[in-house]
Amino acid sequence: MVTVAMIHRQSVRQQAARGGWGARAAALALTLVCAWLPGHADANCLGNPDAQIRQLLAMVSQNATRVLAQTHALIEPLEAQAPRSPADASRLASLYAVEAQAYGILELDLQARAAARAGLKLATDVHDPVHLDLLSAYAENTYDAAGLARALAEIDAARFAQPAGSPADTCLLITRGLIQYRQDRSDLAIVSLMQAYRATAANAASEPHVIAATLLSIVMRGTGDYAQALSLNQEAIDWATNNDATLSLSVARFLRGQIYKLMGNYGQAIEEFTAARKLSVSLDDQQGVAYADLRMCDAHIELGAFAQAARECAAARKSFVAGHANDSVKEAATLLARIDLGQGRPAQALATLNAVLDRHGADLQPRLVAAVYEWRSRANAALGNYAAAYEDLREYQRRYAAANDVERTRQESAMRARFDTDREVERNASLKRELAQSQERAQRQAQQLRWNAIAVLSGVLVIALLIYFLLANRKYRKELLRLASVDALTGLPNRRRTAELATAALAEAAQSKTSLILALIDLDHFKVVNDRCGHATGDYVLQEFARAGREALRPGDVLGRWGGEEFLLVMPQTELSLALANLERLRTLVLGIRLPPTGVGMRVTVSAGVARYEDAVASLDELIARADAALYTAKNEGRDLVRVADERTQFTSTGIRRAMRR
Ligand code: GH3
Ligand code: MG
Ligand code: MG
Repeated sequence: MVTVAMIHRQSVRQQAARGGWGARAAALALTLVCAWLPGHADANCLGNPDAQIRQLLAMVSQNATRVLAQTHALIEPLEAQAPRSPADASRLASLYAVEAQAYGILELDLQARAAARAGLKLATDVHDPVHLDLLSAYAENTYDAAGLARALAEIDAARFAQPAGSPADTCLLITRGLIQYRQDRSDLAIVSLMQAYRATAANAASEPHVIAATLLSIVMRGTGDYAQALSLNQEAIDWATNNDATLSLSVARFLRGQIYKLMGNYGQAIEEFTAARKLSVSLDDQQGVAYADLRMCDAHIELGAFAQAARECAAARKSFVAGHANDSVKEAATLLARIDLGQGRPAQALATLNAVLDRHGADLQPRLVAAVYEWRSRANAALGNYAAAYEDLREYQRRYAAANDVERTRQESAMRARFDTDREVERNASLKRELAQSQERAQRQAQQLRWNAIAVLSGVLVIALLIYFLLANRKYRKELLRLASVDALTGLPNRRRTAELATAALAEAAQSKTSLILALIDLDHFKVVNDRCGHATGDYVLQEFARAGREALRPGDVLGRWGGEEFLLVMPQTELSLALANLERLRTLVLGIRLPPTGVGMRVTVSAGVARYEDAVASLDELIARADAALYTAKNEGRDLVRVADERTQFTSTGIRRAMRR
């Protein structure tokens, strides 16, 4: 899988030695700009569950040769096994992946690819991380157009089997971006890397995200989008700082210096290179120090600080010569020639530049070649070789234009890719918005439905409550009415209700021209009962009287409490004789009411005054008055008597009668 180390290696590859400049010119321009050396596998995209293999992978960038030896020792017995267990096969495949990485670091591409292929024969499942790791290892060690096309097809096929946005998918996308970048398709690389970058944006601290950011930064820088490159680079710096990944941090700061240098911000570039160099020194990373020196030299030349630049370039060249890094040696030589020119030594500069161009720039990156011709033109001019100077200038213009055309085309397509990516993002965003909106709409509708349901339910509830209250109220009203019309003590109709019932019965009698008997019944000497036996016994006697009344009377009769110990009895459709018989029965029942011992020698008796209704003559009041008068007679005649009213006796009011009686 793509690692930070690999990214750096990608930057340092001595592309010139591989030939095939034309097709890859622009990509090589980029790779040389970010020249760096392999570092730790600080960040690994998918990772390996085997601790020993992880350890080997981490060591690859530090000492690839040693890792190769160790890996071979582990591979041999596994290769010799005739029937191999699936676990051993998987382990062997993982070891081949390590081997491929190590060969890659040592720039033995052929061996690296062979190791990857051997591993792929064992790990064939596209869902197996080892398989994906090997696919990436193969792609990372591929540089030729046919190989890259094949690697891209394999990566895309593998991606097809991964769930979109999964870690495996993202890692494959990064490899895809790298391949496209190598194919000199920054525009496509941006799309792939942007996709990987966005897929991992939720987990900004994850290694795939940092790898995507780092690669994107390099590609963006190549397209001239320095602001974006800086911001992506900052992510890598933050990650490396937080994870104590020293080598990654030195690389990230080096890359930052490169961006500043391209922006013409030499002071800041030198700061970054200095920081990167310090980190490389702490890691005892000679090549890292050399590249930092080379870039610092470059920046110092731009600032006119030739003495400082000369020291840096000389040191860098010494390191590159020792490491047989040919194109880097030539780049250092070119910079030294520029210093010579700047310090007034054109002959020395010309000699150096002639040596650099010994192969007419075939072993250098185009941008550098153009620059070398320009500097040689200046050296020739300074020496009075105007014809040569003119030739060099024309060569410079030609190469510069060619490189520039490639550059411009690349930048244009990159811009288009950015635009497309942004448009896609915008489209995705609008789709997302639409989705969110429709979800919101659905939610609103659901909520509306819920509210409706609640409204309906509460309506039903309110109605139910209303009905309940209405019924309860009716019941209550009925109860109130009942309470209002019933005498609490005896349960008989109270005076008001009794009057109503009596009036109705009287009206009925008047209408049907039937006979009606009305009687006023009063308990005799009730005061004495209360006095001797207590009020409670008095109440009891009243209740017992009511009970006797209900027992003695017929359903159509009305017996109500008229007041105190006085009761009104209405007997519709009743002749006097029957009424008297009924009253007699009542009187007998009342006689049966038992009193407590305190009431010894006493009997409960009643007196009654009876009045008979006569056609169109008597009102209720008049009838009652007559009954009252008869009652008065009964009392006067000794009580425990029933007396029928003398129909000629007239009293105007009960009040008067009562007064008279007393
Ligand atoms: P008379 O035979 O002349 O009717 O004499 P009386 O004592 O029955 O008549 P009076 O009008 O002098 O007294 C009626 C008494 O009835 C007075 C009152 O305290 C009593 N009384 C009225 N209502 C109640 C009641 O609800 N419970 C009880 N225990 N006593 C009542
Ligand atoms: Mg009485
Ligand atoms: Mg009385």
